[in-house]
Amino acid sequence: MQLNYPLPTESAAVIEPVLSGEEILYCLPYDLTASGQFTEGFLVITKTRLAVINGGEIERVVPVNSLDGICCGELNSSGMLEANPTGDPFPIVFFTMEHMARYSMAERIITDLIDGVQPRAVSTDDEKKCPNCGRPFIRNTRICRHCSDRMGVLKRIWKVSRPCWGYYALLLLIFWANSGFMLYSPYVSKRLIDEVLTKFGAGSELLPHLLWLVALTGLCSLATTIIGALREIVSAKASNLFVRDLRNDIYKKVQSMPLGYIEEKNAGDLMHRINGDTGRIQQFIQNVAVQAINEICLFIGVAIVVVSFNPMMALLILIPIPIALFLINRISSSVRRRYHKQWRWMDKLTDALNNVFNGIKVVKVFGQEEREVKHFESVASSVRDITCKTEQYVYTVFPIIRFLIGFGSYFVTMYGGALVLGKQMELGELMQFSTYAGYLYSRLEWFSMLPRHISQAITSAQRVFEVMDEDVPPVPTAPLSADGIEGYVDFNNVTFGYKSYKSVLKNIDLNVQKGEMIGLVGHSGAGKSTMINLLMRLYKADEGEIKLDGNSLEDYSISDYKNNLGVVLQESYLFSGSILNNIRYARPDASDDECIRAAKIANAHEFIINLPDGYDTYVGEKGQRLSGGERQRIAIARAVLSDPKIMILDEATASVDTETEQQIQEALGRIIKGRTTFAIAHRLSTLKNANRLVVLEEGRVAEVGSHNELMEKDGIYAGLVRAQRTMTALSVAIDDGGGRGGPGGRGPGRGGPPPR
Ligand code: ADP
Repeated sequence: MQLNYPLPTESAAVIEPVLSGEEILYCLPYDLTASGQFTEGFLVITKTRLAVINGGEIERVVPVNSLDGICCGELNSSGMLEANPTGDPFPIVFFTMEHMARYSMAERIITDLIDGVQPRAVSTDDEKKCPNCGRPFIRNTRICRHCSDRMGVLKRIWKVSRPCWGYYALLLLIFWANSGFMLYSPYVSKRLIDEVLTKFGAGSELLPHLLWLVALTGLCSLATTIIGALREIVSAKASNLFVRDLRNDIYKKVQSMPLGYIEEKNAGDLMHRINGDTGRIQQFIQNVAVQAINEICLFIGVAIVVVSFNPMMALLILIPIPIALFLINRISSSVRRRYHKQWRWMDKLTDALNNVFNGIKVVKVFGQEEREVKHFESVASSVRDITCKTEQYVYTVFPIIRFLIGFGSYFVTMYGGALVLGKQMELGELMQFSTYAGYLYSRLEWFSMLPRHISQAITSAQRVFEVMDEDVPPVPTAPLSADGIEGYVDFNNVTFGYKSYKSVLKNIDLNVQKGEMIGLVGHSGAGKSTMINLLMRLYKADEGEIKLDGNSLEDYSISDYKNNLGVVLQESYLFSGSILNNIRYARPDASDDECIRAAKIANAHEFIINLPDGYDTYVGEKGQRLSGGERQRIAIARAVLSDPKIMILDEATASVDTETEQQIQEALGRIIKGRTTFAIAHRLSTLKNANRLVVLEEGRVAEVGSHNELMEKDGIYAGLVRAQRTMTALSVAIDDGGGRGGPGGRGPGRGGPPPR
């Protein structure tokens, strides 16, 4: 988020003497007055003061040490930054909701300054509008079409395609040969006309010459055909090599990204970049960039030949060219705009599809197919309308330009015809020049479409390069090996938020002994899964650190660490493939026997061997051919395969029926022995084996202790247990009264034994 906007020159000049050399740490825009009028002002934050500046006038300067607190509050559809909220409050600035997140961040920054701590908020450029020109970025990107360095992008495509340079050199040779034959063919035709076909009545003495010239024409045609085929083969090889490398690189990069980044970009967008955008660049290289060399070679060749043979004729051919270039230049920006609009709508169409297919179950469950079809139809109709309009424009304007360009050939025929009639030029020579004129004009026509292709390729390349340029957190230089770890885990004053301005976990302190089982408890949204996410190293703590055996978790080699971590989540994901391969996913080098042993520990062996294909059973996409409980037991087998020192169980039995739950609980009870375990369970009864229960409330550790201790304390945990007992009693009453609940019931407290 951008937190340090440049001050307008006038305001910068006014504020400078007030700050007396102090550095501006942050500068935030605000856009409302106290009476709700729109305005344009800035809040400047330095280490010791806040200054409010508007239209070149300083409205207020507040020393930081005069504040006892700061609060970013929400008003009616707007926000306010208020000083001293608990003492003698006064407003600092007002703003629209557009700046809410920014001022939530300002609250943290100023609180840090009041506490004498260096603020950690970093100003980054993740705005939706370009800071240079104020135009919106391309959707889901930080690319401004208007300000981006288009030439730089093309140069980068060139650099990235380095492995294909050899092919390009070969292509250049092919093009030269091709241009040579294309230039030579009209000359052969000229000779055919002038030396044979117009020698009426010459009889059979010219037959050998005729044969020779026809053979030469045939040879030229054969040569251009062979060269054409060669050109296609080589350019396809080059572009496929290029796109394979590019796709691998971008995929590797996405895999190395933190989870937060991948979640931020939606899956469809990333897939589109890895597949669609790289494909567009490939098409550009194969069909446009390579062809452009051909066209340029031919254009220059024809121009040289025409000028050197007959300058007057050349002049006539070239007359319409400047006019055509002028027109093309005028029209291309409008064409570009239309195509960009079209692509934006195509993106929306892809998003719509992606959204629906990801949630197809929900669509079906709620019977919303018709609504989704209507929504899709409306987006598809917009795409159709915009595409039709664009194509209509392109196919009206370009034929007109083509006609204007072709005008030169009428001059050539007129002038050349007069020369032929006056016997100053041979008919064949005129035909030769007409063919050359045709060459030149079709090249120009091709060039007129070039801006569109380039623009398309540049946009795609920018989207690809944007991912490639994302910063990946550095891997520790000397990572510790996690082999032989004991499993002592410490959360030391850990604070974390998915959004940097909103903490989800606050100052978590927790010491966990090796082999201890910790049950994480709390209301929904308290931060239990977030704690586990940090432990799984899916995110990094903003403040404080997690230690493993006394060393920072971050210092361990990530792959080593993951080998020592067993995870069973509520909905275990299975990859399409066999059961055996799914178990082996945790440790690809595990033998079949080891996988089977793991399956036995996970109570999965029995059901697997009863399947027709046993361990080779194909589980289907996302494991859909198996029941929830079966999937879960395979996930447990996968988790224990690498004999991890730390186990994470996040609602591992939440989505299964009572009978299966018992089998899974039994398996879990077996596998957590001797391993440090963190378990989250909605049904508190399932945490009965926990050595300690940690109760989280709004991101803080509220209570720690055993079940009995916490019940005695009669705090949050006792309240949760009571609520669940009531639910269970209700559920039993409904069942006894002929309710529809059965063993498959999944409501809270249903199924398992009541909480102790
Ligand atoms: P619990 O597991 O206790 O139910 P979570 O740790 O899942 O709670 O969530 C804590 C808070 O973090 C919630 O307010 C939730 O909305 C938010 N949250 C969880 N995951 C994300 C995410 N990936 N991005 C942004 N916010 C998230």
